[in-house]
Amino acid sequence: IFENIKHQFQSKALGQNVILNCDTPLPDMDAVVITDEIKLTQVLSNLVGNALKFTKKGHVGFGYLLKNELLELYVEDTGIGIAPEMHEEIFKRFRQVEVNPNRQFGGSGLGLSISKAYVELLGSNLVLRSKPGIGSMFRFTIPYKKAGKTDESNKPPFKEIRSEYNNFRTILVAEDEDLNFKLLVVLLSKIGLTIIRAVNGLEAVEICESGQPVDLVLMDIKMPVMDGYEATRIIKKLRPGLPVIAQTAYSTDEDKAKAFDCGCSDFISKPFRKEILIAKISEHLASCP
Ligand code: ADP
Repeated sequence: IFENIKHQFQSKALGQNVILNCDTPLPDMDAVVITDEIKLTQVLSNLVGNALKFTKKGHVGFGYLLKNELLELYVEDTGIGIAPEMHEEIFKRFRQVEVNPNRQFGGSGLGLSISKAYVELLGSNLVLRSKPGIGSMFRFTIPYKKAGKTDESNKPPFKEIRSEYNNFRTILVAEDEDLNFKLLVVLLSKIGLTIIRAVNGLEAVEICESGQPVDLVLMDIKMPVMDGYEATRIIKKLRPGLPVIAQTAYSTDEDKAKAFDCGCSDFISKPFRKEILIAKISEHLASCP
């Protein structure tokens, strides 16, 4: 659904010089859910269509985040925004912010009332956050009810990874945010990995250069002093065999492509599911001696 919508609106976005980002963090096999495809497609395409209609510069982003047992779907833009007094009004039938007869934006004023009704039929609420001149974000949730097999064989083999990697492998975590780093420590120390930290890209390079034993690098992309792209480029020159997994929040396809160009072996979008992070780390550690 997300890919189709991106495809549907890509040329419109390009035509008006607006970047269209689509972020779908789960691997395909985990991203097939039981829901009403037609309603979901209609809602997303209404919201993305509106976002592009009311955005003349900047970007329109859409995608989902996995939050507990829910997928939170969002469509955000850096467009004209909506005044607070209109936040409820625009969900009513035929209501539009622009009312003068020489309106510059077309439309029937029905899209949002239909979208709201569909989202409610899907068991959620369509929530708006918006500021005039800054942009808007519409979001709603659907249950994360995976289609197909739901038994344990669908999940990454958490237990096996644990025993396999108890043997003192070291991960260098390049992460400037303390909170993110603490979260990773909790996650990774559970599976017996030793963790060292760099607070920016330059420090990560220096640690790799110093000859300290490092088996894998988990590289945040947006960091001060030297970003993750540059740091990865240098580290891969020093140690071409060292796996580097890039991690970044709200990543775009371009971010991913750039990370791979710089030599990253893999990419994970934040916030990530711990099983996915651990599966990726396991895969890359297993492939190096
Ligand atoms: P329309 O066909 O007019 O787009 P909608 O019901 O989809 O009808 O939207 C109602 C009104 O809400 C729009 O006319 C516009 O004034 C406002 N609106 C909707 N989405 C956005 C957005 N992303 N940014 C700014 N205004 C928006």
